[in-house]
Amino acid sequence: MSFRRCFIALTMLSALSVLSAAHAQQMVPDSPLRVGEDQKVAHRINEAILVAYGFGNTFMVTTPAGNVIIDTSSVVRAPKAKELLQKENSGPITHIILTHGHGDHTGGVKLWKGPQTQVIAQQEQYEFLNYQARLEQFLTQRNAAQFAFPPRDTGPWVGNRGATMLATVTFADKYEFTTGGVKFELFSTPGETPDHLTVWIPQYKAAFVGDNYYESFPNLYTLRGTKPRWALDYIDSINKVLALKPEILLPSHGQPVRGNAEITRRLTRYRDAISYVHDAVVQGMNQGKDVFTLMQQIKLPADLNVGESYGNLIWSIRGIYDGYAGWFDMNPATMYDVPMTAVLPDVTRLAGGPDPIAALAAQRVEAGQYVEALHLTEIALTADPKHRRSLEVRLQALEKLHARSVNSNERGWLSYSIRGVKKALEGGN
Ligand SMILES: [Zn+2]
Repeated sequence: MSFRRCFIALTMLSALSVLSAAHAQQMVPDSPLRVGEDQKVAHRINEAILVAYGFGNTFMVTTPAGNVIIDTSSVVRAPKAKELLQKENSGPITHIILTHGHGDHTGGVKLWKGPQTQVIAQQEQYEFLNYQARLEQFLTQRNAAQFAFPPRDTGPWVGNRGATMLATVTFADKYEFTTGGVKFELFSTPGETPDHLTVWIPQYKAAFVGDNYYESFPNLYTLRGTKPRWALDYIDSINKVLALKPEILLPSHGQPVRGNAEITRRLTRYRDAISYVHDAVVQGMNQGKDVFTLMQQIKLPADLNVGESYGNLIWSIRGIYDGYAGWFDMNPATMYDVPMTAVLPDVTRLAGGPDPIAALAAQRVEAGQYVEALHLTEIALTADPKHRRSLEVRLQALEKLHARSVNSNERGWLSYSIRGVKKALEGGN
C-alpha cells in the first residue's frame, strides 16, 4: 500500500464510530487493521461458504435462492471484500447478519444491502449503537490516539438515542430462517458486546462466533474505553457454541478452525482461561486484596495460556474488578475532587526540583524499571511540563516498553505517548 493510499485509508477508517476489539495470530503488532490487505481471491471454506479476510472478516454463504452475508467489515475494507466475494458468486443478497455492532463488522451494510435484503441483529444492538453514537467524539479521539489516525471532528452530538439503526429484524434469544434450502439458526451469545450473536448452519456444522473467540486472551477491558465485558457472559456463550458440536469455527478475526476435536480443545481452553481469571479476581476481592495486588499476582497456568497479543491479563483483571466494584479504592483522598497530581509540584520542590527526579528516573530506566521511570517523570513534568531531561528519560522508558511489547494495543498507546513526548521535546507542546 502506497503512503497516499495508506493515508486515505486511515482517514476513511477514522470515520468509523468504534473499532472492534479483536486481533488474530497472524496479525503483525501495530498493524491489526491491515490483515487480509493482500488477499487476491476470496477463500473457500467449503462448497457454500466463502471468506474475505480483513479487519474484520466478511463471510458469504451461497444458496440457490441468493446469498447471506455474515459481517461486513469496516467502511474502508468493505469494498474490496465485496469485490472478492462477488467475483465468486454475484447472486442477490437475501440477508445480512451482524454478529455485533462494532464498526469493523457493520461498515459495509450500506454497500451490500439491496431493497429486499433483511439485516438481522440481536436486539441489544439498539442500545449498543446508541451507546457508541452517544460517546462518538470521546471514542473517536481514543481510536485516533491508539491507531494513529488523524484527528476528526464527528460533528454535532446526536443525542442519547440518535444512532442510525441498521437491522430490519431483531431477536432476543434465538432466530431461525431458511433460504435456498439452507437453515440458519442465530443465538444470542453476549461476550465482547451485549449484542453479540452466533450464527449456526446445521447442514455444514459451521459456527460463526464474531469476536467472542480470537487468538489472544480476550480484551475484557479495552484501553480505548468500554463498558464491562462480562466474563461470565463469555463463558455461557462459549458453552452454547460448544454444545452445537461445530466442525467449522469461523471467527470474525483470524482463520477458521476445523474439526470438532480441535475446536473443542481451543474453545474449552479459552473459556477456562477466562473463568480462571474471573474467579481469581472474585476470590481476591473477597479476601480484601486491592486491584494492583491482583494484577501482579494472577497468572494463567501454562495449560491455559492463550496468549496476550490483543487483550491482556492485567487490563482484564482490572476490568473485572472495576466492573464489579467501580472506582472507589477505600482511600479517603479518592472521595474528593483533588487528584494526587495536585501535590506533585510540592513533591518536586521538596526533592530539590525536577533535575534530581529526572536523574532518579534515568537510574530506573538503567535498572529496567520503565514503569517506575514513567511515574517519576510524571512527578517532575507535572511541576515543569517542559523539563527537557525528564522528557528525554520518559521517551527512553516509553521506547523500551514499546520494544519489549508483543501486544498491539499496548504498542498503540505507547506509540501515541512517544509521539506526544517527541512533540514536547521539539517545542510543539
Ligand atoms: Zn471485530
